[in-house]
Amino acid sequence: MTTDKRVAILGAGAGGACAALELASRGFQVTLFERNSEAVAEASLVNEGKIHLGFIYAMDRSLRTARKMIDGALVFEDHLRRWVDFRAADAVSTPFLYGIHRDSLMGLEQLLAHYAACADYYRQRAAELGRDYLGMGTGFRFHPVPEAEYPVDLNPEFIPQLVATTEYAVDPRHVARCLRRGLQTAEGIEFRPGHTVTAIDPLKGNGYRVTVQHDGQERSESFPQVVNATWYRRLPLDRPLGIEPPGPWSHRYKFGNRVAVSLTRAQLPSITCVQGPFGDLVNFEANGFFLSWYPTGRTGMSLAESPPEWDAGYDRAQRMAVFHNSLGHWKQRCARLDELRFSDEDVDPVGGVIYALGTEDVDHVATRLHDRYDIGLQSRGGYHSVDTGKYTLAPLMGMAVADRVSGVA
Ligand SMILES: Cc1cc2nc3c(=O)[nH]c(=O)nc-3n(C[C@H](O)[C@H](O)[C@H](O)COP(=O)(O)OP(=O)(O)OC[C@H]3O[C@@H](n4cnc5c(N)ncnc54)[C@H](O)[C@@H]3O)c2cc1C
Repeated sequence: MTTDKRVAILGAGAGGACAALELASRGFQVTLFERNSEAVAEASLVNEGKIHLGFIYAMDRSLRTARKMIDGALVFEDHLRRWVDFRAADAVSTPFLYGIHRDSLMGLEQLLAHYAACADYYRQRAAELGRDYLGMGTGFRFHPVPEAEYPVDLNPEFIPQLVATTEYAVDPRHVARCLRRGLQTAEGIEFRPGHTVTAIDPLKGNGYRVTVQHDGQERSESFPQVVNATWYRRLPLDRPLGIEPPGPWSHRYKFGNRVAVSLTRAQLPSITCVQGPFGDLVNFEANGFFLSWYPTGRTGMSLAESPPEWDAGYDRAQRMAVFHNSLGHWKQRCARLDELRFSDEDVDPVGGVIYALGTEDVDHVATRLHDRYDIGLQSRGGYHSVDTGKYTLAPLMGMAVADRVSGVA
């Protein structure tokens, strides 16, 4: 193995940022290229922040996806705390309810059996690792909620069954601020915002030439090792180096609207409707709420190597139309939304691209979008491409990248 401890990381989302912070802590000199003017500005910012315990992945009956999520969730806070000043409790949502929606692809009994299997794995892993989910001391619990005890005006006509859980989201905007501060202050990281990587070429012997566009100019630089953490923009960089996705994939553009209005715990539930193309509400209390309704908020789907530039394609009015449409659907299911007072100025109708294996949408029983275990690292020599898979897994993946680059795994 080379003793040259320089490494280029492409992409400063949560995956690339965690890898950079861990590698710097191991004495590597990291050059972190990011096309945006700041770090953590795409999927890792606009997502819902749910730190998955496997509940949503009931359609993967092998339990591999749920196990992967639990592995990531159990180290999420501890790993972040290695690198940045972070406490999940500072930015956590209220606990999630799972609403079994009318026309769900799975019924309550099947879902409860899946949740029980997740709880068993959680207990086993938590004991092995000596770790606790988000440092919350809540463990893994769930129980069905009778209709008479439905909170905050949830409409049983649409949501005939409900399960209370101890799953949470952590405000990704808070995590983004922590990671940005960490990248600024860590020794051994040269962060280069506004740098778009356009090509990676293997050099004769060892190493790679990284070609970057910055300020209208193209420049190249050589590194012994390169990590591609550009999420849905990985494929065109990977393929010339012989790395192919493990199966047919798709890209989806999904709105993750945020509303900056301070809420109490009782004003809005955090709820995920399952199982199929439904949506989520997340109550971050003082930090506002997240709202998405899949049938109106999943506005793009592409099977191409590079999806359209969806994000640049919407003006504010179009984005607000998607938000209001999604809000309308949610109001039918949760009348309490009608009582919340906020104006259009409080709404940030952002969205992001989701890359995943599977070519048919989530309303298909057999689509691979229901599983997320076939993710992680693919390497050719000193070139490593990382599919973060989920936000939940970013710190776990950051550590896996660091192990691979430093020759541990
Ligand atoms: C609306 C929505 C909700 C979601 N909700 C959840 C959730 O609740 N829980 C969960 O676990 N997951 C969720 N996800 C998925 C999660 O957001 C992603 O899996 C995760 O954020 C991916 O992290 P990443 O660092 O790999 O990608 P990103 O955060 O997208 O980072 C990639 C970075 O690479 C940069 N980049 C790209 N190309 C180049 C280039 N050529 N040169 C330089 N830089 C480049 C980008 O600018 C970006 O900063 C959600 C996603 C969306 C869109």
